[in-house]
Amino acid sequence: EQGLTRLGLVADRPDHAGAVPSAAGLPRLRIGHGYDLHRLEPPPPTGRGRPFILGGVRFDHPVGPVGHSDGDAVYHAVTDALLGALCEADIGQIFPDDDPRWDGEDSTVFLTAARDRTRSRGYAVVNLDVTVVCVRPKLAPHKQAMIANIARVLGLDVGQVNLKGKTHEKVDAVGEGRAVEVHVVALLAAIDHPG
Ligand code: MG
Repeated sequence: EQGLTRLGLVADRPDHAGAVPSAAGLPRLRIGHGYDLHRLEPPPPTGRGRPFILGGVRFDHPVGPVGHSDGDAVYHAVTDALLGALCEADIGQIFPDDDPRWDGEDSTVFLTAARDRTRSRGYAVVNLDVTVVCVRPKLAPHKQAMIANIARVLGLDVGQVNLKGKTHEKVDAVGEGRAVEVHVVALLAAIDHPG
């Protein structure tokens, strides 16, 4: 218990709303996984691709994600990792893709909603690990900008956010550059005084 307090963590209490008896005494940590994939197409009239935005960075690229919102697969997967850790409804349930309100929406809105939900539930993000599978555009020159964007929206230090790029070795749709895929793992910890 003392060690947990020193780490800024709170041990679960039986009276804590939502706590299950078997979790009493355990550190209140929650892990979440987020996944997203968007097909990449040329812009209209040839295809339905939107401008290529990933991790809040706009890339100059001949194809872009097909999606109801701006199609930012990184922001979507991070959003779902946070919501998943909290056992909340997922991004598609909260922001349905048949709702005209979210047509072309800046995905910062979804990520901000997940941040607010995390805070209101009394949790803070310990760290995020983001894996982006994308052949082109080359992500490396923009990695730090994407990390900085995620950290800014979530109110984190850049040292709490990791992002790495993979190519899928030319195999399958992702490897052939016809889609972008993102995996995220998020760790949350309960905080004494949500702020
Ligand atoms: Mg998506």
